[in-house]
Amino acid sequence: MSAAMIDGKAHAAALRAQVAAAGARFREELGRPAGLAVVLVGDDAASGVYVASKARATLEAGMESFTHRLPASATQAEVLELLASLNQNEAVDGILVQLPLPAQIDETAVIDAIHPDKDVDGFHVLNAGRLAIGQNGLVPCTPLGCLMLLRACRGSLAGLRAVVVGRSNIVGKPMARLLLAQDCTVTVAHSRTRDLQSVVHDADILVVAIGRPLSIPGAWIKPGATVIDVGINRIDDPTGSGKSRLVGDVDFDSAALVAGAITPVPGGVGPMTIAVLLRNTVVAARRRAGLSPDA
Ligand code: NDP
Repeated sequence: MSAAMIDGKAHAAALRAQVAAAGARFREELGRPAGLAVVLVGDDAASGVYVASKARATLEAGMESFTHRLPASATQAEVLELLASLNQNEAVDGILVQLPLPAQIDETAVIDAIHPDKDVDGFHVLNAGRLAIGQNGLVPCTPLGCLMLLRACRGSLAGLRAVVVGRSNIVGKPMARLLLAQDCTVTVAHSRTRDLQSVVHDADILVVAIGRPLSIPGAWIKPGATVIDVGINRIDDPTGSGKSRLVGDVDFDSAALVAGAITPVPGGVGPMTIAVLLRNTVVAARRRAGLSPDA
């Protein structure tokens, strides 16, 4: 392996420590902790685990955590009513609705019912628009975490060729906008891209978020490129042990032979996502209190 390993766990731990200090300063200044409310609708096991770990991380950062559970049969009106009360609640600075939602609930309507100033996931159309035109808003956690790793690893990104594979609203598109704002020359690839291999080979910075295990082989990667693998896929262990394991969208073993630096899966982007969620909560709390976002 020639690539440097980008240690997402260590970067996330450092960010969480910074956020805890900023949260403590907020508590001193305002006389109350910043608060994050998480809404879980239904009983999806994986979502339950994510919500519990977000609540734990919020408390560990010295913030107030509010978890609201609604049954899988909840109506859209019930979810919207809960969001309206959280929007009004002064102790709540950030609101996150755990996705996916049960089929009877319109995801877009729910996201757009969150007050944009409390939208710590950054999915509200107003925050997406702010990011698109370069205004300050709340930025989706996973792509912002990727950008922090890239800045820590490469410093200035100006003038570099960046390729983002994947164009979802939660990862690919905001990632591309963040890289453009860093003065990269950005290409966004997706399932209809022709000759993905040559597009990928152009990248000084490669961010992959497609949800297809081990899809980008090392042979496609430009020597020395920085590779951020967002994908989290569970596959059967190829050794035939009958167990499963987590892998990314990039074929780590071959990519690590050519890349300059690369994130592992697990332990790369994943830990950054929750750390940035906590950071966004403090930013939202400070802005709502009329303080500068940087603590
Ligand atoms: P989506 O399914 O919403 O989007 C996938 C994107 O990849 C689409 O734009 C799709 O193209 C594109 N795509 C699919 N197949 C290919 C292909 N063969 N070649 C090129 N492009 C392709 O996924 P998400 O963005 O939500 O998530 C992507 C991955 O990131 C998943 O593995 C997810 O688990 C992981 N993830 C990890 C997070 C973390 O904290 N580490 C957080 C969020 C996601 P098209 O638009 O044309 O359909």
